[in-house]
Amino acid sequence: MLLKFLTPHIEHFENNVTVQLSFNIDGVPLSSSSKSSFWPILLSFVNVPNLLKTVIPVGLYHGKFKKPSSSFEFLNPFITEMNEIISNGLEINEKILKFKISQVICDAPAKSFLLNVKNHNAYHGCNSCIVEGTYFNHRMSFLDMDAPLRTDRNKQDEYYYKDNSPLEDLPGAKKQLFKQQLKAAERMSEKYLNHNFSEKMTAAASLFTKLQLKETKKKNKGRRFTLDEKIMSLSLYKRNPKCYCLLSIMFTLPSPRTLQNVLSSVSITTGVSPIVMKVLRKI
Ligand SMILES: [Zn+2]
Repeated sequence: MLLKFLTPHIEHFENNVTVQLSFNIDGVPLSSSSKSSFWPILLSFVNVPNLLKTVIPVGLYHGKFKKPSSSFEFLNPFITEMNEIISNGLEINEKILKFKISQVICDAPAKSFLLNVKNHNAYHGCNSCIVEGTYFNHRMSFLDMDAPLRTDRNKQDEYYYKDNSPLEDLPGAKKQLFKQQLKAAERMSEKYLNHNFSEKMTAAASLFTKLQLKETKKKNKGRRFTLDEKIMSLSLYKRNPKCYCLLSIMFTLPSPRTLQNVLSSVSITTGVSPIVMKVLRKI
């Protein structure tokens, strides 16, 4: 499909360029008296200056009574073609073109259809956060402004997700999804460890262990220590500086110099503290 369109325009493309594609997907009613509608998939090019105003239809669905019943059925031919050209590129007249989808544009009903989630006006319909709507003045209103944001991690939310989205089958999306899942898993295991540690250890031991997990893999200069960690290390250092040096070889700890800096930021003067005097005067 694309090959046929691009061949006459190939002079506008540089060799080896990554063409950024923009898609618009929407339902268009054909008449006000029937439910007959068109669902076109329109393509445009984001980074080809000579073709900025060109729009080409790459897919079209017509339903006499309703929109496509499944977003998979509707999008699958499109996804298959995209997977093919994104993975392999196209060669036209000895020019190699690579492709990337940079945006999919649609209105709220089309968006929820493509993502396979509840409608934008459902109780759990917000795409951005997990707010629960309130029906107010014949409208769905989302009143909670601080609800946690939606992520792939709360994909179990059956009030929002109907099923997987066909867009997840695009090659870039899969990579992205995998990366996000990996990050989520890392955060989960860290949280789990932290939780288990703090239950079974003294506060100091937990602080020390967390410090080892958090900083050990970083380069020397990239290590950052919290004030609590510095105070704990300082108490070790003051007990026995030589032993602290030995511990520093075995574990990740702030350098004696960092500890000196903590001390120098505390002002120590001679005399009686004015706070103590104040208390004494009251007695
Ligand atoms: Zn929201």
